[in-house]
Formats: sequence, C-alpha cells, structure tokens
Amino acid sequence: MSGAVPDLEAAVAEIVETLRHRVDRGEVASYIPELASADPRAFGIVVANADGSVVSGGASETPFSIQSISKVFTLTLALGKFGDRLWRRVGREPSGSPFNSVVQLEREQGIPRNPFINAGAIAVTDLILSGHQPREALGEILRFMQFLADDPSITIDRAVAASEHRTGFRNAALANYMKSFGVLDNPVNFTLGVYFHHCAIAMSCRQLAIAGRFLACDGKNPSTGFKVVPAERARRINALMLTCGHYDGSGEFAYRVGLPGKSGVGGGILAIAPGKASIAVWSPGLDANGNSHLGRTALEMLTAKMGWSIFKA
Ligand code: GLN
Repeated sequence: MSGAVPDLEAAVAEIVETLRHRVDRGEVASYIPELASADPRAFGIVVANADGSVVSGGASETPFSIQSISKVFTLTLALGKFGDRLWRRVGREPSGSPFNSVVQLEREQGIPRNPFINAGAIAVTDLILSGHQPREALGEILRFMQFLADDPSITIDRAVAASEHRTGFRNAALANYMKSFGVLDNPVNFTLGVYFHHCAIAMSCRQLAIAGRFLACDGKNPSTGFKVVPAERARRINALMLTCGHYDGSGEFAYRVGLPGKSGVGGGILAIAPGKASIAVWSPGLDANGNSHLGRTALEMLTAKMGWSIFKA
C-alpha cells in the first residue's frame, strides 16, 4: 500500500515470530569461556524511537554481555575528553580484517586502523585511563552508560571480565605491540583490565537501545533535550559505525541493513536509523566474522519493512 505508514509494532512482532523458528542460528562465541554458556535460542529486540516511544519483542529485558558495542561509548567519551587529538592514536578507515588481527598493526607502525577493532578500542581505553587509576576510569565508563540508559542498575559482569583476562592472549599481544610503538601511555595490564571490564558490561536490549538514542537524535537525548555530543560528532560516530562497526563484515552489513551499526561477540548489535530510532537486537549465535547471525537478519527485515535504510530516497 503506497503512502501507508508501516506499523512498527506489527513489524517487530513478525520478526520475533519468524526468527523463533530459525534453525540456523550461528555459533555462540567460546574463545571467552564465560560467554560459551549463552543460550543460542535467545532473541531480543528493542526499537527506541526518536519521539521517546519504545517498541520491544522477545527477551528484551535480559542482560547480555555488550562486548564490542561498548567501543561506541568509549569512543564517545574519549572524543569528549580529547577531541580530534584522539585521531593521532587511531585511524578512521575500515580494516577489512578480523577484529583481533595482528598483521595490520605491524604494517602501520602500531596505529590501529579504527576505534572499533580491538587494537583501536584498546588505544581509546588507554586514553581514557591516562591520569586515573583503572578503577576510576572504569567507574567513569560505567556511569556514562548508566546515564545514557537512564538506569543506575547497569553493572559489569565480573565473571566475564575475569574469564577474558585469563584467556585474552591475543589482546595482550595487540596491546604490547602498540606499547612498543609508544601508542599506549599506561601499563599494558592496567589498560587491558579496563578494556576487558568495559566489554563485560551487561545490558538488556532496552537499556542499550535507550543508551544509543543520542546517535539517532543529532547528539541529544530526545526525552530531556540534553545534549550528549554536538550533532556533528553524532554524525561522525555514525559514519564510523557504518564503515567499521562490523569488522570485515561491515560492507555486508551496510549492503543488507543500510544502517550504522556496532556488533559485539555477546551477540548484540546496536543500529542507528538517524532521525528515527536507536535499535538493539540480541541473539548469541555468531557468523564467521563474529557478528550476530539472527541479529543482522532481524535488522535486515526491520529496515526493509520500515524503509529505514539510510540509502533509501
Ligand atoms: N572483548 C572482546 C575481545 O576483545 C570483544 C570482541 C568483540 O565483541 N568483537 O575479543
């Protein structure tokens, strides 16, 4: 029916119902042992609209490990503190490599390609840590998440953080490598500790979608009108999410979904429909690039139904 406004509630309900029956759900991440026990049948979706209304489906209130989605928020925080000086430490180009790749760092003298691959996020975390104790830096990141989600109950899953700290040898290699080029200022173990803990923040789809609203609303919280970041910065963070938010799956995500998005190996994705909505989806099964398989499928269905692709005229 041309001209009719698509019904968001019906679209979300249909997505939940369709995906309930999917057999092919991807593989749950197991390289962080504590994440391996996630239920591959879990699925949640929340759409937080620019007008303040919220539409949800499935396990929308269940907290999960946000993992790399935290990198959007640490980047936002670090840009607020350091502005464009941050770009001396990290680039803004898609990597075309896995999220924990080591080879690119050697070719590029320890400067990570972008703030969303692990090396880039570790460099950003190191900046936030400078001049603080790890506990203070972590408290600042957690309070920022609680503030954005308007929910002081958000916590860090310490078992997940400890599990990654015990087994995160690849991230330790990346951090040590950057340290050798002088890209990190703080002791490697401190920086990694803060990084592992912010990746281990646990949030529900509802909390995450609400926390992401400023990116859909020109940098403002649409409920309070409070400016989180200038509009230009929100636009630029969205640009980075589009080009780099899904690692070597970023092109495919843009092609299929057509929105800026950031994934995490906990199975969450935060996607932004500028001017319209902040969307969080969660399903723990991952594809070969470490991105939620059903999460992307859900977003692909949603943008098609709602006409929300940023490439649509
Ligand atoms: N904490 C995870 C890691 O460093 C985050 C990776 C991800 O979510 N893609 O490996």
